[in-house]
Amino acid sequence: MKYDVIIVGAGPGGIFSAYELTKLNDKLKIAIFEAGNPLEKRKCPIDGVKVKNCIKCPTCAIMNGFGGAGAFSDGKYNITNQFGGSLYEYIGKNEAIDLMKYVDEINLAYGGEGTKLYSTADTKIKKMCLENGLHLLDAQVRHLGTDINYVVLENLYNYLKDRVEFFFRTPVEKVEKNGEGYRVITEEAGYECDKCIISVGRSGSKWMETVCRDLEIPTKSNRVDIGVRVELPAEIFSALTDELYESKIVYRTEKFEDLVRTFCMNPHGAVVNENTNGIVTVNGHSYEDPAKHTENTNFALLVSKHFSEPFKDSNGYGESIARLSNMLGGGVIVQRFGDLVRGRRSNAARISEGYVTPTLAATPGDLSLVIPKRILDGIIEMIYALDKICPGTANDDTLLYGVEVKFYNMEVELDNNLETRNKGLFVIGDGSGVTHSLSHASASGIYVARYIANEK
Ligand SMILES: Cc1cc2nc3c(=O)[nH]c(=O)nc-3n(C[C@H](O)[C@H](O)[C@H](O)COP(=O)(O)OP(=O)(O)OC[C@H]3O[C@@H](n4cnc5c(N)ncnc54)[C@H](O)[C@@H]3O)c2cc1C
Repeated sequence: MKYDVIIVGAGPGGIFSAYELTKLNDKLKIAIFEAGNPLEKRKCPIDGVKVKNCIKCPTCAIMNGFGGAGAFSDGKYNITNQFGGSLYEYIGKNEAIDLMKYVDEINLAYGGEGTKLYSTADTKIKKMCLENGLHLLDAQVRHLGTDINYVVLENLYNYLKDRVEFFFRTPVEKVEKNGEGYRVITEEAGYECDKCIISVGRSGSKWMETVCRDLEIPTKSNRVDIGVRVELPAEIFSALTDELYESKIVYRTEKFEDLVRTFCMNPHGAVVNENTNGIVTVNGHSYEDPAKHTENTNFALLVSKHFSEPFKDSNGYGESIARLSNMLGGGVIVQRFGDLVRGRRSNAARISEGYVTPTLAATPGDLSLVIPKRILDGIIEMIYALDKICPGTANDDTLLYGVEVKFYNMEVELDNNLETRNKGLFVIGDGSGVTHSLSHASASGIYVARYIANEK
């Protein structure tokens, strides 16, 4: 039970680090421990008929298992340093972009060929945004779609399964120093390794805190993003989505000069539940296959909050707001924009009379009872600003789902090799607080794999 490298977590960070290690040195003995199931066994019980709301399974099929939180995601791989993480601060801007492009090549080689790469370069949309106080961030985005993303993961698993030892449904409980190497402890046994790569994503955030405490690795609090998911007829946003697919637009509010931004745009997509450590929030995705398209587009509008002194727990703040919505709505709340601005709750009758058919069965309610005024005012202002470039955004029937919370892991103190102060222990992906996206998490895996392979 001795390995050269043990990887904790089989999300994009873990998968791409294993992939690169096997490519660079096929003699390495590598094991991956994953709390969730293999890809084909990941099945969320919500079917919209018998099970309508999250039943809080022991491991969430959406967040845990081979493919990590990204497995049923929209598979949008953004190639940019402007958002998705701060990997470039550790490894440099050019290297970060090169690695994201390399990840893109692998995705294409493993089933993603033929999918579209969108770009903001030379777009007239940028000018249109600026004329209306909105700022479009630069990026290239490969949209695999939930279906092709799944195929890529299946193919990567088939490549890895004969080269790497997988331990599914095996959460790692503890990582201990063991001489020059590490001992990785699960409920059943302990496993030794020379190098350990931890890539446990957002769902492993609480566990990551215990590892840092035990191994005396300094951490810093991170921000939390709070907001809503907007759903409207796809035609309203087609001017943006047809050309760019996903556009990251930032708006500075007039009232408080807060920044509100769009996030995770899903043309013809569906709104979904997300369960992080038992708290149900909202997210979205869409399929590449036109047969699976819905009539709606969804995207998030988010405001960042970062607490440092005396209160440091930004995630705790976000969790409390999400808990409040779970308490009032039994899960996610949905409200028509028209009801929100008129100060009244939505009910089932008003939602069903509306012209936008919700793609998620959420509880009609009043988001103003959940989301802090300052954040909600900013979101309302941005909806009116977006209405200028995409008329119809501020229609009464536009649906808002809440709350959407993006929890960021605390930032783990790492050097430029993404290595902790404990030599041979690396922390990558969203679990490190350095990345918040598929492309950055994957790139961080490749980066560390190359470093380890060079050292071996
Ligand atoms: C619905 C949804 C849609 C998304 N859409 C996009 C998108 O389109 N584009 C984008 O860039 N990002 C998207 N994201 C975010 C993206 O999925 C993450 O940024 C990415 O998956 C992070 O990769 P990771 O490897 O760091 O962590 P994760 O993907 O979270 O993987 C971590 C893995 O570690 C496992 N784990 C945790 N703790 C332990 C433990 N103690 N022992 C063993 N295993 C453990 C977990 O089970 C999990 O499988 C989406 C997320 C969700 C939930």
